[in-house]
Amino acid sequence: MNAEHIESAAELRELYRELILDHARKPRHFGQLRDATHSANGINPLCGDNLNLDLAVGDGIIRDAAFEATGCAISVASASLMTDTIIGRTDHDALQWSDRVTTSLTSEDDTDAGDLGKLAALMGVRQFPSRIKCATLAWHALRNALRHEKLPASTE
Ligand code: ZN
Repeated sequence: MNAEHIESAAELRELYRELILDHARKPRHFGQLRDATHSANGINPLCGDNLNLDLAVGDGIIRDAAFEATGCAISVASASLMTDTIIGRTDHDALQWSDRVTTSLTSEDDTDAGDLGKLAALMGVRQFPSRIKCATLAWHALRNALRHEKLPASTE
C-alpha cells in the first residue's frame, strides 16, 4: 500500500490492526538473553498476561532485549513493539518511551499520538478499556527492569 493512499481514519485503523496482529503472530525478539543485565517479570491479573523481559545494557545503551510471554495478542504485540523500539536506545530514552506510551494509553482525552510512530497502533486499545492494561504491561516491565525492581510489575 502506498502512503499516499492512506487517507481515511478507517484505513489507518485497518493498518494498525494488521500491525498488531503481525506482531502478535510473529513476535520480534522472543526468547531469553544469556547476557541479560536487567530482567523483570510483569503480570496483568485481569487478563492473565504474564511476561518476562530481559535487557542487555552496556554503557547506558540497550544493546539487546528479549521477552517471553503467555497472554493475549495485545500483550504479546505490545511487548514485541516495545523491544523493537528500545533496542539501540539509551536507558533514559527507553524510560521516556515507557512514560509516553503508558500516559497516552491511559489518558482520557484523545491525545495526538502522531509522534509515537508505529506505536500509535497500540492506541486503538483505548476504545477497549479492559484491554489497556494488556498494552501497558510490557512498558511497566521495561521500567521495572531498568530500575532493578525485584517485585513483578503488576498492572493492578
Ligand atoms: Zn491481555
